[in-house]
Amino acid sequence: MFGRPQRVRIPAELWQSWLNDPAVVARFEAKRYQRSEQACWIWTAGISSTGHGSFRAASLPGRSRRGTVPAHLFAYQLEQGVIPRLGWSGADDPCLCHRCDEAGCVNPAHLRLGTNTENRAEWAQRHRNPHGPLADLRGAAGRARAVAVAIRAGISAGESAEEIEDRIRAARHAGQPLTLW
Ligand SMILES: [Zn+2]
Repeated sequence: MFGRPQRVRIPAELWQSWLNDPAVVARFEAKRYQRSEQACWIWTAGISSTGHGSFRAASLPGRSRRGTVPAHLFAYQLEQGVIPRLGWSGADDPCLCHRCDEAGCVNPAHLRLGTNTENRAEWAQRHRNPHGPLADLRGAAGRARAVAVAIRAGISAGESAEEIEDRIRAARHAGQPLTLW
C-alpha cells in the first residue's frame, strides 16, 4: 500500500512492552473488526491522512505523539513478534505492504514485510485498476473512514454479521469510479 504512515521511531523494547500488556492488546482488539481468515480485518477507530489506522498504544510525554502508532504495524508485530526499525522510513528500514491494497486493513495475513521502494512499485502497477481499492475516488483515507463508519453503524444498530457485510460492500462500492457510469 502506497502512502507513508505517520513517522514513528518506536524502539523495539517499547513495542515489546505494549504487545506484552493485555490491557493494551484488549484495547487494540476492541477496535479491530475481525472477519473470515481471507477477508480484510478492518480498523474501526481513527484513520490517518494516508488511510492507515491509528492506535493510541500509550500516552507518552513530549510534543510528538509517540504513543500513537499505525494500527497495521501493531497488528503485524502482535502476530509475528517485534521487528526492529519497522516503519522508521529510512531507505533500508523495513516497511509493511498491504497485499490487499486496503490501507485500513489490520489482518496480519494481508501484510508482508518489504521496502519503501517495493511499496511504491506495487502502487504504480496497481493504482490504475479501476476495480481496485487504489482507484477509490475518495482516496485511501476517505475509503478507510467510510468503511469504518459503516461497520460502527452496523455494530451500534445491533446488526448481524451478514448485515454488516452488506454495509462494508456498499461502503467500498460507493467510491469505485465505474459506479459513475
Ligand atoms: Zn486486507
